[in-house]
Order: sequence, then C-alpha cells, then structure tokens
Amino acid sequence: YGDSNQKIDYVFKIVLIGDSAVGKSQILSRFARNEFSLDSKATIGVEFQTRTLVIQHKSVKAQIWDTAGQERYRAVTSAYYRGAVGAMLVYDITKRQSFDHIPRWLEELRGHADKNIVIILIGNKSDLENQRAVPTEDAKEFAQKEGLFFLETSALEATNVETAFLTVLTEIFNIVN
Ligand code: GDP
Ligand code: MG
Repeated sequence: YGDSNQKIDYVFKIVLIGDSAVGKSQILSRFARNEFSLDSKATIGVEFQTRTLVIQHKSVKAQIWDTAGQERYRAVTSAYYRGAVGAMLVYDITKRQSFDHIPRWLEELRGHADKNIVIILIGNKSDLENQRAVPTEDAKEFAQKEGLFFLETSALEATNVETAFLTVLTEIFNIVN
C-alpha cells in the first residue's frame, strides 16, 4: 500500500462504473487503502486513487477513477473514460435493479472507451447472501455472453477485491507485453 519512490513501469487507468450505492467507492477504498466505511458519503467530484503493485517484476501503478454522483444514465462524461484501459462494472447482489442496468452501463462504456478495454463485471456485497436478489448464475451467463470477466466481491469483508483488480491489471499487462 502507498506509493513508494520506486520507478514506475506502467500506469493503467481503470474506471469504476455502475449505479449509485452499489459500493464502488468502498471497493476502491478497500483496494487503495485497505479501508472500509459503512456510512460512506456519496462521492463529490470526479476523483481517482492509486496503488502501485508489482506484476511479473514490473511496477504497475493502477490509477482508479471513481464516479462522483454522476451515476445517472449518460451523466458520466467522456473525459472520465478517456485513456481507460480497464473498467469495473459494479452492481449490488441485493439490488436487482442495479444488475438490470448493467447492459446500459456496458453500452455506454463501449460507446466511449477504447475497444480493447478490459472489463470485469462485479457483483458486490457478497457478504449479504441472505438478501441476495441476483443469482450468481445469471451474472455469470451474462458475463460469458458479453466476454467479460466476472467476480462477486465484498468490500466489507475484503473478499475478492484484490483478485478483481489483479484480474484486470494482469490482463491489461499481458495485452501490452
Ligand atoms: P457507490 O455509490 O457505488 O460509491 O457506493 P458506496 O461505496 O458509497 O457504498 C454504498 C453503501 O453500501 C455504503 O453504505 C457502504 O458502506 C455499503 N457497502 C459498500 N460495499 C459493501 C459491501 O461489500 N458489503 C456491505 N454489506 N455493504 C457495502
Ligand atoms: Mg461513490
């Protein structure tokens, strides 16, 4: 955690998208600072956080952008997507609507981003299994059909957050190498 004074071999921009309250900011906070907040305030203004990690002996700085109350349809501007090489498309496993909106987000992403962008579908809040409204199989099937990676995560319990970022970053790394 934290960026030391090491030489950076790559900077990869990753964007987080998905409906409001699905946990995007907490996923980012978990990955960048290993922190979680149950009463996170809605993010104001576009912002990003970074974390540098080593992939195959190269230092890779992940620059992760978080939407900022722009989660209404078509409110995210093209500047947000510009230069992104990875995207995390997040829904909440307890909110069916957030999953039903994923095709829209995907369409918007594909409309704005580079066509080779690496995309992972994320079903967050996997700790709330007793409130599940989206079967894992539905998401898996959708991801397969659309050629996306897929994982269920819990930012709260730190389940699969690291794996999700590593999946995207490693895939990008392999594409550029
Ligand atoms: P965003 O609007 O997509 O950025 O969502 P936030 O990160 O602000 O999270 C919205 C709410 O969901 C907050 O109250 C978080 O504490 C909560 N939350 C985020 N991730 C999880 C998770 O993995 N499990 C649970 N139980 N709550 C979460
Ligand atoms: Mg947020």
